[in-house]
Amino acid sequence: MKTVQLPSGERVAAFGLGTWYVGDSARTRAEEIATLRLGLDRGATLIDTAEMYGDGRAEELIGDAIAGRRDEAFIVSKVYPHNASRALAAKACERSLRRLKTDRIDLYLLHWRGNVPLDETIAAFEALRAAGKIRHYGVSNLDLADMQALWRVPGAQTVATNQLLYNLTRRGIEWSLQPWLRERHIPVMAYSPLEQGRLLRNPQLSDFARRHGMTPAQAALAWLLAREDIIVIPKSIHRERLKENLGAVAFTLTLDQLAELDSLFPPPARAQALEML
Ligand code: NDP
Repeated sequence: MKTVQLPSGERVAAFGLGTWYVGDSARTRAEEIATLRLGLDRGATLIDTAEMYGDGRAEELIGDAIAGRRDEAFIVSKVYPHNASRALAAKACERSLRRLKTDRIDLYLLHWRGNVPLDETIAAFEALRAAGKIRHYGVSNLDLADMQALWRVPGAQTVATNQLLYNLTRRGIEWSLQPWLRERHIPVMAYSPLEQGRLLRNPQLSDFARRHGMTPAQAALAWLLAREDIIVIPKSIHRERLKENLGAVAFTLTLDQLAELDSLFPPPARAQALEML
């Protein structure tokens, strides 16, 4: 499995497993658990979740899926902005740990910026890290100005990632946010890398993928994986689709293929506000 280096020096799988809407239905539960376990088997050991997903049901299902295999997984979870205060973050983290049936979260993210001052959130994360409840912390959906504000908080320079909406049709971060993160060796965790499935119905991507002997999902993911500091976290609750998506790791796009994708899905020509889903 390809890996990406976090600022701490630790390496994590470049291909992880998204879990938004996972755990919502008893009917799909067995396949969801089987898919997560297949991911672990194949080296997709990073699992992304949040207290928000299904009001904790995604975390609960992950806890069941990794039973007996906790040490193989790198678990990322996210705290709601309204819980990201010193008093509430500790409680939110305890609830997540209980649902995940583990004693630590590998990477704990602020889901998006809310009203709690960033320095208070960082103090809460530092306390959780000192207590061994979380191993690393980071952020999600923070635009450049937010990152610059975060950077002024003492200690915050250890943030492990900024999880952002990033795919062929959402390239806005390339203008200034991604270069800023890259200068500081902070990897981007690209969420909704398949644009929640919509990208797979894009005729131009389908045509590109067919001509180059891959599926649209593989082309979309291979484009992201072509960069050294991008972690992708596509979500699928089907083992066959996970296998297909994992196939992207084996494709190294050529400079010609990357140039073709640039012409089909152009990079930003001006600054734009950060998009989120
Ligand atoms: P994705 O871009 O990963 O797309 C997921 C959708 O694509 C699902 O409907 C899935 O269906 C379908 N799909 C996946 N693979 C295939 C395939 N090979 N063929 C056909 N359909 C496929 O969207 P997400 O929004 O789920 O993003 C990924 C993860 O990122 C989330 O699950 C979550 O963990 C995280 N996220 C974080 C956010 C944040 O604010 N920080 C916001 C949004 C997402 P099926 O499952 O039925 O296979």
